[in-house]
Amino acid sequence: MRKIALLLLIVCLLIAADYGKPADDLREHRTCLTCGMDRQKHRLSRMLLIYDGGSTGGTCSLRCTAVDMAAHREKTITRMLVADYATGKLVDAWKAVWVIGGAKTGIMTRRAKWAFEEKDAAAKFVREHGGKLAVYDEAMKAAFGDMAGDVTLPQTRKTPVYTKKNDVQTHPDCKYCGMDRRRFDFSRMLVLQDDSSETGTCSIHCTALDRALNYEKPPRWIGVGDYGTRKLINARKAYWVIGGDRQGVMSIRGKWAFEKRKEAEEYTRDHGGQIHGFDAALQATFEDMWEILR
Ligand SMILES: [Zn+2]
Ligand SMILES: [Zn+2]
Repeated sequence: MRKIALLLLIVCLLIAADYGKPADDLREHRTCLTCGMDRQKHRLSRMLLIYDGGSTGGTCSLRCTAVDMAAHREKTITRMLVADYATGKLVDAWKAVWVIGGAKTGIMTRRAKWAFEEKDAAAKFVREHGGKLAVYDEAMKAAFGDMAGDVTLPQTRKTPVYTKKNDVQTHPDCKYCGMDRRRFDFSRMLVLQDDSSETGTCSIHCTALDRALNYEKPPRWIGVGDYGTRKLINARKAYWVIGGDRQGVMSIRGKWAFEKRKEAEEYTRDHGGQIHGFDAALQATFEDMWEILR
């Protein structure tokens, strides 16, 4: 009897010692692998990614998981866990009941996405704070769809003089996918940051990725190669053709930029697609990222 009591005491002490200590994944991954934020602070939205081969990665939120997936298409995620918003316990993200939106602002995004293990808890949250119930696929679609609205774009529409230099020679490879920007000069882009640093990419796909990863670095100017002339033009002023019969770069749906509206119209006559502004092209780019990944 005394032995059992002693054993019970030891068990109780062990439980007490463990209680209040951060969960294992928080000890192992203190900061978000995408944005660097403290995961303990965002323990109710944090996620844990388990890759094939057994390595793991921790993020602060669904938004940062989405960005990591898009930035590392080569990595295969075999399991994905998310904190139950009600308890903080990690549960299967693919089976969780998700809530999109509501009164509470999201983590790294305006529109929130919270996960719950129990449908009742999710429904209770919706009654109290608004939002709508969703499955993982819908939450992920929303996470990508919200990214364009969350990134900062250049304030000025003026073309800076220093773009006169040959950006393809200065940045021969795409910073993100490594593709040859000389080969993709018709879709290449150049991001000029406020701190005078430059990022060369192959396409609006990799530029969107750059903006999602470097959200804290506001761009001064974003340039894109004119689809016809290959000249570097202001991406915000360009006429963007979305869709059409030519496959996009790093994406299925094409997104091509033209300096002159007439040339964009000519392209759509021959190849289809629709003319939009840069904001719509960026929105389509983020939405297409999820279409490729899912
Ligand atoms: Zn993060
Ligand atoms: Zn690229």
